[in-house]
Amino acid sequence: MNEMQPVRGTRDLIGEDQRRHQHIIDTARRVSANYGMEEWATPIFEDTRVFSRSLGDTSDVVTKEMYSFQDRGGDSLTLRPEATAGICRALVSNGLTQSLPQKVFYTGPMFRYERPQKGRYRQFHQIDVEVLGSAEPLADAEVIACGWDILKALGISHDVVLEVNTLGDRESRDAYRSALVEYFSAHQAALSEDSLARLERNPLRILDSKDEGDRRIVAGAPTIQPYLTAAAAAFYARLKAYLTGFGVPFVENPRIVRGLDYYGHTAFEFVTSRLGAQGTVMGGGRYDGLVEEMGGPPTPAVGWAAGIERLSMLLAEVPAGPRPVAVVPVGEAAEAAALAVLQQLRHAGIRAEIAYRGNLKRRLERANRIGARAAVILGEDEAARGVAQVKDFVTGVQQEVAVAELPTRLR
Ligand code: ATP
Ligand code: MG
Repeated sequence: MNEMQPVRGTRDLIGEDQRRHQHIIDTARRVSANYGMEEWATPIFEDTRVFSRSLGDTSDVVTKEMYSFQDRGGDSLTLRPEATAGICRALVSNGLTQSLPQKVFYTGPMFRYERPQKGRYRQFHQIDVEVLGSAEPLADAEVIACGWDILKALGISHDVVLEVNTLGDRESRDAYRSALVEYFSAHQAALSEDSLARLERNPLRILDSKDEGDRRIVAGAPTIQPYLTAAAAAFYARLKAYLTGFGVPFVENPRIVRGLDYYGHTAFEFVTSRLGAQGTVMGGGRYDGLVEEMGGPPTPAVGWAAGIERLSMLLAEVPAGPRPVAVVPVGEAAEAAALAVLQQLRHAGIRAEIAYRGNLKRRLERANRIGARAAVILGEDEAARGVAQVKDFVTGVQQEVAVAELPTRLR
């Protein structure tokens, strides 16, 4: 039989890869908790409508990237391509729309049928922060500040730039949409097929096109600024003032629209030049209509998601944990005493290992191979006297130590 391979666009996380991955999650969990975020977990698959209704029927995710399937009962289910829609669904399903705001931290695997390349996978992982139930721009600034602090805590903030934009309120967007239709209609002949399809249904989407030809046309497109209502302009001005208040550096980029259709007002991305075309490491914005799409009351909300794989590529090496202590019984009679010592060390919080078999020489060789910092050697005689020989592999010194003293001596 042929050797089995992982599915295209998926990866195993082992060793250094897994350490980086976990370090990012641990850091994000810790920093977001300081902002009052509480962790949620929702199912990995949902009713397909949770995503098809919310992400927008012109978004890339819905038109070509969803892993949807019929289960044995005939229901259409989808492996979640992102977390926000499920979080909004959960807010409604759990009757939490009366207990607002909810401040959420989230992490887990996401699934999109994309062309695999560096920084782009079919199963990838995100960290997410969402604040549900506040219409105040201070909430937008706070989730962004939380993202910035996570990037700082990971030591990669010098590699990323925060770009912010506003998509205005509905009135601003309607006026802007007309201006975009007029502009892009004049360039129809040069637009990609995808963008032509978006022209009627959602011309804002064209601004997010990755097609080279489209991007040249997009460069000359009008920006939303002149079409902003006074209220939308004021909201954006307050967001920027709050970001400054939080000490978060940013630049304005009027081209940011984000890949999903549900955003209004704030849109932002943390971008890097170190990952080629996959330069967006964290992105998000305000999505005031989404909870209503899930059958809940109108509920303003704002949040972001970051790709763990992309953050991981920016991260410096994450060192392995502390070196272990090897417990080495000499002869069968000392084995029981060795197991007691092994557990004594582990229960004291010391990483300790035992070889499953072998004589003294073999076991010491193995201790060396696993990078042990010391060996605790117990023969029958030592066991009877309640002592052990401790060989320190760093200094080379060997000493007799009372078993009761081992945790203190080895900590
Ligand atoms: P892109 O423009 O790169 O396709 P997106 O706009 O589709 O990104 P979002 O839906 O906003 O991305 O997801 C937030 C983050 O998740 C992205 O900024 C990125 O870091 C990460 N991400 C999205 N898709 C993938 C993928 N297929 N593989 C790895 N990471 C991804
Ligand atoms: Mg995408």
